[in-house]
Amino acid sequence: MIKTAVTGFPRIGKERQLKFAAEKFFRGEIGQSELEEVAKELRAYGWKKQEKAGITFIPSNDFSFYDNLLDTAFLLGAIPSRYVKLGLSPLETYFATAHGYQGNAGDVKALPMKKWFNTNYHYLVPELSDDTKIKLAENSKPLCEFSEALSLGIKTVPALTGLYTFFHLASYTGGKKAEAFIDDAVAAYSELACQLEALGAEWISFSEPALVLDVNEEEKTLFVTIYKKLLKQIRSQTKVKILLQTFFGDIRDVYEEVISLGFDGIGLDFIEGKETLSLIEKSFPKNTLLFAGLINGKNIWRSNYEDKIHILSEIKKCLPQENLVISPSCSLLHVPYSTELEDKLSDEVKAHFAFAEEKLCELKELASEDKAVLEENKKLFACQRVNKNPKVQAALSALTADDFIRKPDFEVREEIQKKEFNLPLFPTTTIGSFPQTKEVRAKRAAWKKGQLSDQEYVTFNQEKIAECIALQEKLDLDVLVHGEFERNDMVEYFGSQMDGYLFTSNGWVQSYGTRCVKPPVVWGDVSRRAPMTVEWSVYAQSRTKKPVKGMLTGPVTILNWSFPREDISLKEQADQIGLAIRDEVLDLEANGIRIIQIDEAALREKLPLRKRDWHSEYLDWAIPAFRLVHAKVRPQTQIHTHMCYSEFNDIIREIDDMDADVITFEASRSDLKILDALKEADFKTEVGPGVYDIHSPRVPSVSEITAALNKMREKVPLEKLWVNPDCGLKTRREEETVRSLSNLVEAAKILRAESIFFDKAV
Ligand code: GLN
Ligand code: ZN
Repeated sequence: MIKTAVTGFPRIGKERQLKFAAEKFFRGEIGQSELEEVAKELRAYGWKKQEKAGITFIPSNDFSFYDNLLDTAFLLGAIPSRYVKLGLSPLETYFATAHGYQGNAGDVKALPMKKWFNTNYHYLVPELSDDTKIKLAENSKPLCEFSEALSLGIKTVPALTGLYTFFHLASYTGGKKAEAFIDDAVAAYSELACQLEALGAEWISFSEPALVLDVNEEEKTLFVTIYKKLLKQIRSQTKVKILLQTFFGDIRDVYEEVISLGFDGIGLDFIEGKETLSLIEKSFPKNTLLFAGLINGKNIWRSNYEDKIHILSEIKKCLPQENLVISPSCSLLHVPYSTELEDKLSDEVKAHFAFAEEKLCELKELASEDKAVLEENKKLFACQRVNKNPKVQAALSALTADDFIRKPDFEVREEIQKKEFNLPLFPTTTIGSFPQTKEVRAKRAAWKKGQLSDQEYVTFNQEKIAECIALQEKLDLDVLVHGEFERNDMVEYFGSQMDGYLFTSNGWVQSYGTRCVKPPVVWGDVSRRAPMTVEWSVYAQSRTKKPVKGMLTGPVTILNWSFPREDISLKEQADQIGLAIRDEVLDLEANGIRIIQIDEAALREKLPLRKRDWHSEYLDWAIPAFRLVHAKVRPQTQIHTHMCYSEFNDIIREIDDMDADVITFEASRSDLKILDALKEADFKTEVGPGVYDIHSPRVPSVSEITAALNKMREKVPLEKLWVNPDCGLKTRREEETVRSLSNLVEAAKILRAESIFFDKAV
């Protein structure tokens, strides 16, 4: 039997228990011990499942109350002093770094949050200052969790964030860079290795996903320096075996170094790592275990065993079978718990799915190399799952270059639209959603269950829309939104109205902190059944003279936040969705909606991790898919787009090439560096860099917002600058929202009044 391993297991709970418990804790409804009790149960659940599935290497420390990188910062004592100074309990301090804190103890913003490689998971960016003193925390989380599993009779492999990845992702506020912290970090990790060994640990794993990025010479040196020191110290004090775990791609730039450092195990990704097989074919060290990531840890389809067995036979040519361990390609955090909870899907459909727990079975089945199991799997892949939709196929093949080019040019449209809308300088708007109160969610749930009639549901939503419009008029915002009360999720809402999509009832995947998303599944050819948003937008517009934005999700985001098909290309799927959204755009326009926002919140997310793949594998189809959606609108119709996270410095021209009229994006939580890049690129699209962070309950003051705006107007031409929060307000409370938006409008007005003094030349 081949050995098996897992790098991480879902931790939010099958019923999202962790989310609900943590939120109760934040509201002060339960105490720390109750929250910890829930966490303990969840960990035990995961370990037992894996034990039962016969997994040889089961991880611990893959759990987190918020994020593993944040845990690592706390493990290494790298907590910025402004949080420590609040004088809160350790757990409260931890949550203060994640959420920000506003209360009796003080007022601090949260640490910045970024997307975890090419996933929809987010990590908090550790912050290292010249005063940071790295030191191992006492009675640390890896020790506690290892002991906890041991008390259940399960000896786990503590999973630690590799120091290279930690330093690669951290931000540095002073002159000191990674090199200055290495020795202390190595000492801390060696000490931890000793402590873990004393408890009985035989293996420790260091996850180093940053090795799958482009690694330059300097970074390579940093990586080698860290591990030479770390391995030497750990080896001199312990007999613990060390696994270097990589995922999300291959490690071609550092492979030679990795195999010569003397790790006891090396984890490589055979799913996203295009070159992994050829790397090990060149050489693989003799006495090292290969942890082969063979099962897709990011998608939910069953594995095709025939393909897997083929790869396995290639791998076996490179090393003795006893050195082979098979595992998912990355942590199972990125897939839901189990298809068992999906009672609404037929068994026929479910047979094609493997969530985390089913992937454990797949590992076991593959490891057993049992012929009968293979035959069963062959049958599944022999049947035809998708029938092509001839209408979609015809529409796709009728597309020509013109379908992707909006006319006239941006500059001409900009002038036409300035006249059309006659908005003040620094127009104010929001990103779309308004707070989704308990009532809103309850009504939607009741309607879905059939407890509320269609008419009652429409009436309720219309009331909410009317209230929302009235509120925005009172706040004196310039471009209004309908509030998105009918939407639970910006992807699910559209997916559920398109053919070709399937929905799970419980397929939750962690996105950030306690937040989860439920990605829909692209099952067949995608097309729109009927208008999806027109009635809400038209109703909202009927309540005001100010322009109301139609609100759609773009094709790239819909695709990136779905589980995609694997039998056709991503490009083809994006174009199919693009055509469906195009129909909606044109219907909105035909019904009098003059501004349409097409959110591409997730566009940046699936950018390949290596630069050389950016265009050929992604941008060359993703940007056109967006253009397809709006190319046919009139010049007067203003197209907005929105992107979460402003990390697009290096694809700024491509973003401009989406040819939207206005783009809003997050800017408050990351620094304002993006503005320099915009200026440098002579960015033509009008911009609304978010002026405050909606991920935190803090209310930004007027002066804070004017300060942000003043920075922005130095970099962005005045007539191109919009004023808005950095994302939708769905998760915020009403009271916070009203105060924040009122400050936002006031700040814009102050700037307008001062604008006569501004130097126009930027
Ligand atoms: N229009 C969406 C909203 O406001 C955008 C959300 C997002 O970017 N994630 O909720
Ligand atoms: Zn957003």
